[in-house]
Amino acid sequence: MSQPDTAIETLAQRVVAGERRALAQAITLVESTRPDHRLQARALLERIGPAGSVVRRIGLSGTPGVGKSTFIETMGMRLVDAGHRVAVLAVDPSSTRTGGSILGDKTRMERLSRAPGAFVRPSPSLGTLGGVARRTREAIRLVEAAGYDTVLVETVGVGQSETMVAEMTDIFVLLLAPGGGDELQGVKRGIMEIADLIVVNKADGDMAAQAEATRSEYASALHLLRSRQGDAPGFPKALSASAVTGTGLDTVWAAVLELHRHRLEGGLLDQTRARQAVQAMRKALERAVMDLIRRDSGLRALLDDLEEQVSRGTLDPEEAAERVIADLRS
Ligand code: GDP
Repeated sequence: MSQPDTAIETLAQRVVAGERRALAQAITLVESTRPDHRLQARALLERIGPAGSVVRRIGLSGTPGVGKSTFIETMGMRLVDAGHRVAVLAVDPSSTRTGGSILGDKTRMERLSRAPGAFVRPSPSLGTLGGVARRTREAIRLVEAAGYDTVLVETVGVGQSETMVAEMTDIFVLLLAPGGGDELQGVKRGIMEIADLIVVNKADGDMAAQAEATRSEYASALHLLRSRQGDAPGFPKALSASAVTGTGLDTVWAAVLELHRHRLEGGLLDQTRARQAVQAMRKALERAVMDLIRRDSGLRALLDDLEEQVSRGTLDPEEAAERVIADLRS
């Protein structure tokens, strides 16, 4: 066995043994876009093997300030105290555009970050959304291999990143603030459609009554959406909670468990994961084909020329794509 193989083998063993530092190192490796790192990352994932099916993958989203980190901290600490091992991964769409980060600051979830039963990973900086999707999917496999039974994937609402997170998790939770309505909270209909659970947070003190009114509004709105075929009765549903006082969190968690169990026992979970895996493969293939084209100097020149014509409006985009395919085939 060559030197790098030994190193990867050791890293894989340490990850599976649940060593935090090894896990952090492994995630850094899958986050890297360097070609040699990609090869190592693939070797690592291969050694770690396929994902298990009992782990709960939960997506969580909401606009900045709605209380995501407070919610994850409180809920995460409860789960850890109950003996669960909780991993938190973040998908930060802002970093794909500006290099800055909404979610990545280190002061978030301070207690949970220090808890021995938890692993909190800030979002990777920079990269395309497609790249972030791949890295997050791979990070999920790593934390699962390291023995975390609950994986929370957090993102902040701009639509695209929510869909992406929903595509790699079993259950999608949308956190909202009391009042405001769809417009003010920037809730797009598409996001409501992918949510399994809507949680109106900050249901405490002066805001308790308003939170209940908001919950009820969303419960009515969810009734209008068709429930998913074969899914647990009563879902998607709207609940209210307070991440600060902890009120309602038991109910939220019970709902997550109920839905997860239903989907697991009815086979829906496996079906969803199978579909997600195929979808991920297609995305990887699309990226690989584009990479192939960009790396081949002849194809690159053809692409540049066609893009130029398409941008001037002298060539139809579909026709241009056909020409690239024809060239690939020849
Ligand atoms: P994030 O940007 O979605 O992660 O939101 P944070 O968790 O940082 O919370 C934003 C602000 O809302 C902070 O000042 C929190 O203390 C506050 N907050 C979060 N959850 C609650 C809650 O359940 N009740 C109340 N009253 N305030 C909350």
